[in-house]
This record gives sequence, structure tokens and C-alpha cells, in this order.
Amino acid sequence: MLNRQGRPTQAGEGESQRHETFTGNKALQQIEPLIFEIGHHETTGVDIDKPAPFKSRLGKHARQGEIGLPGLSEPEAMRHYVRLSQKNYGIDTGLFPLGSCTMKHNARLNEKVARLPGFSDVHPLQPVSTVPGALDVMLELARYLMTLTGMPAVALSPKAGAHGEACGMMAIKAAIAAKGEGATRTVVLVPESAHGTNPATAALIGFSVKAVPARPDGTVAVEDVKALLGPDVAAIMLTNPNTCGIFEPQIVEIAAAMHEAGAYFYCDGANFNAIVGKARPGDLGVDAMHINLHKTFSTPHGGGGPGAGPVVLSERLAPYAPVPFIHVEGGTPRLVEHKADAPEGNDPFGRMTAFHGQMGMYVRALAYMLSHGADGMKQASEDAVLNANYIRAGLADLMSLPFPDHPSMHEALFDDEWLKGTGVTTLDFAKAMIDEGYHPMTVYFPLVVHGAMLIEPTESESKASLDLFIATLRDLAIAAKGNDKSRFTAAPHHAPMRRLDETRAARQPVLKWEKPAPVKEAAE
Ligand SMILES: *Cc1c(COP(=O)(O)O)cnc(C)c1O
Repeated sequence: MLNRQGRPTQAGEGESQRHETFTGNKALQQIEPLIFEIGHHETTGVDIDKPAPFKSRLGKHARQGEIGLPGLSEPEAMRHYVRLSQKNYGIDTGLFPLGSCTMKHNARLNEKVARLPGFSDVHPLQPVSTVPGALDVMLELARYLMTLTGMPAVALSPKAGAHGEACGMMAIKAAIAAKGEGATRTVVLVPESAHGTNPATAALIGFSVKAVPARPDGTVAVEDVKALLGPDVAAIMLTNPNTCGIFEPQIVEIAAAMHEAGAYFYCDGANFNAIVGKARPGDLGVDAMHINLHKTFSTPHGGGGPGAGPVVLSERLAPYAPVPFIHVEGGTPRLVEHKADAPEGNDPFGRMTAFHGQMGMYVRALAYMLSHGADGMKQASEDAVLNANYIRAGLADLMSLPFPDHPSMHEALFDDEWLKGTGVTTLDFAKAMIDEGYHPMTVYFPLVVHGAMLIEPTESESKASLDLFIATLRDLAIAAKGNDKSRFTAAPHHAPMRRLDETRAARQPVLKWEKPAPVKEAAE
């Protein structure tokens, strides 16, 4: 017999088919169709009298056909959205080891402060004179970001890390143009291990990208950078600590080489959580760096929703910071909205956002900073590094480390060398983690490591939580090596949805619901 998903419900040939149910639901985890598949035109959550006859003024603009919206009763609508909400795995559900993403606890204190009416009700078009508190929050946040990074300026408005990359690279482009080198400095160097947003940003801003090879030890060497330097190079985009979880040992030499060649150093600061209070990017020679408030400073990542990616800038790039920004003159803050209003010596490259950025995230990040204090933020970084190394030490005898000679910063990186000959892949292993109730770690990134598994526990996890996670991964690793292959290749066994055709989903995405053609009666 086939269930609703067309999979056999009877014990079949393989282990994988043994647990299918008639409904497709797994215990109390419900399969949820699209709202269009639940709704009927006949049903509705409201009961309104037919209007009295009236003369429409819409003329030929009046809608002719059905509106096509699914009609749902209130319980149907409510169940649909509650079930969808329950499908979301978040940091409030459990450990979220997604490397490079810094999925740390979003403290409820931050949420409480962000919901104060004075913050949550301000409107971007309100007269500036009515929002001195909001300006103060932005100035205070800016002061903290500049202090923690050792940089003299910050552009607050970018709304995500990648948006911050664009902001920093546009400032670099403006600085190069101001020197009259716009036509010649067209190349941006990006290490092979970089996050995909780095080369994408450089290309989007109009640069061409040259890859810096990764050393076998997972770091970038100054000689490799120097070999690519010339009068055509505008900048390097380098992540530190890098995507392999290693603090770049030659970062100061690389910065000096860039500056000597008349180029700039953009640092991808997504991994700042490993070094807050320990090292200041300004001291390392960085010219521009985005900070993901939703990673380092605990604001929610929010499924494509609000993030914030302020960019700190060096003295050389500060004049090109985009509008709007707050300029303090004689102790009075003034909002600079237009290039023409910019103070003497400033030449903003333009504007990144319609308004001022993500105010709610500014409040949350500042609440995090003030509640932790300087010592607390430093300790958070130390604990994040400690937790990652605890996981590394707990698994290193079973799983293989691509860079055993470098200490890990805030994430532990494994490769798939240890799975050789087992018939189990990194993807299978990640899917088996879902059966155990864990969101998988980041897999197959960074690209320079074969079958990469990048685990970032963050400082939020207790020792007990880390111990259970390690014990689970040890159990899985022993099973993978012990030829318990079907536990992996058919995983997840216990999720309502099994393996999705990810390639097809990426190549032929279905972005719009189409009404299915009416089912034809059988011919005979
Ligand atoms: C997360 C991340 C980015 C992009 O940041 P978003 O806020 O997701 O746009 C860039 N680089 C690295 C290394 C990251 O981890």
C-alpha cells in the first residue's frame, strides 16, 4: 500500500521503508500541505451578508474572474500556521551547530528592551527632534563597535553581512576613484576558502576576482598574496579568523603588503565572535570590516528577516561612508541625510538603505553589550573558543581533522577522510543527525576541505549540552565505521520528509503555486 507521499506503508525491501505511515505523519509531527491545497472557495473564516445592490465605480477595472485565494475556516488557518511554526528549528529549540553562522542564544532581556514603546514605535519619518533617544542608542552602539574593533568610524545602515561587504567595497571603490585610479585598480583578491558572498560582492561592485590559493594548512600566506599584487589590485577580501576556524597567522604582514601596493584590506568580520575583547581588527591593519550583529552580538537571524551588518572603516575610508549618518557637532547630534549636508572633508559614496538601518537590531545589540560589559564580551569569546575546542577534543580520535597543527578558534572543522571506505558521505552523516534531533552542522563548506563538517557550538551551550552532542556524534561515528550503513544512507528515518531532490530544487525551483489541472476520469 502507498501512503499520501506515494511511499509504501508495508514493510518493504529495506529498513528505509519500514516506518512509513498511512498519513505520512510521523508520530505527532504533521505533514503540512500548502495553504492553497487546504483551502476551498466554499469555506471561509467569516460570514458576511451579501451587500445591498450598489453601483460599482470601478468600471472596466472591476475584477472579472475568481480571486483565487484559498478560503479557510479559522481552525484550518490557525492549524496551518501553527504547524508551520512548529517546523522551524531554531536556537530556542536546541543546539544549532551551523558553522560560520554563530547561532547563539538571543537573550530575552534584549527582546524586552527592544519592545519598549520608545524604541519599537519610532517611525523613520518622525522629526529628528522627537527621537533623541534613538540617536543616542545609535551613537552608543557606534562607540562600542569602534572601541571593540579599534577603528575610527562605522557605517551603521547596512542590513546584513553581505550588504556590509557591498558597503565596504563601495567605500574602497570611492577612495580609489578619488585618487584617480578607478580605471586601473580593478582586481580584488579573494582566498579560495572565502565565503561565497565575498567574490559575489566584489563582482557585483564591478571588480574582477582573482583567487588566492589556500595553503595545505588552511591559511593564506603573504608570499601568495604578494605574488598577485600589482598596480591593478584594488583590495583583498580576507576572513579572520578564517572559514577553517583558524586565526590567520600572517594577517599583519598581508595588511602591510596591501597598503604598500596602494591597495586596501577588506576583512570579512563574520567570525568576530571568536576575538571580541581579545584582538582589534584596527590593530591588524584592516581598512573595512562588516560586523554581523545577528552573529556576534546575539540579535536574531530571523529566517531571511532582519539582520544588521554595520561596517567599521579606517581613517582612509571614513570620508566615503554612506548617508545617512549622525554627525556630532559641539555635543549636539545632527542627522546627515544628504551628501550636500555632509561636514567638511566628507564625500559619502551614496546611500545603502532608504532609512537608517535596523533600529530593533541596534537596540538588541547594545542591550547585549551593556549587559555583558567589556569583561563579559571577552569571556563570551573565550567560552565560544573553549566550547569549539572541547568538541574538537571530544571527537578527534574518531573523526579526522584537516588541519591538526592549528588550534581551532570558535569552530571545529572536520573533513571526510575518516568516512573513507564506509560508503557513508558527509551528507548522509548530517541527515542521520536529524534523526537524533540535532540540526546538522555546516557541510561541504569551506570548499577547500573535502566533505567539510564545520561545527560552531557558540558560548551559549552548557557542558552537559556539549557532552550529549559529543556522545551523539561519537555513537553515529562508531556506527558509520561499523558498517551500519542504512542508518545513514536512508536517513532521516524519523522525519516526515526524507531526502529532498536538492539539485532539482536548485535547478528548477517552483516559486509559484499553479492550480493543478483537473484530474481526468480514467479512459475506460
Ligand atoms: C554569514 C557570513 C557572511 C554573510 O553574512 P549575512 O549576514 O548572512 O549576509 C559573510 N561571510 C561569512 C564568513 C559569513 O559567515
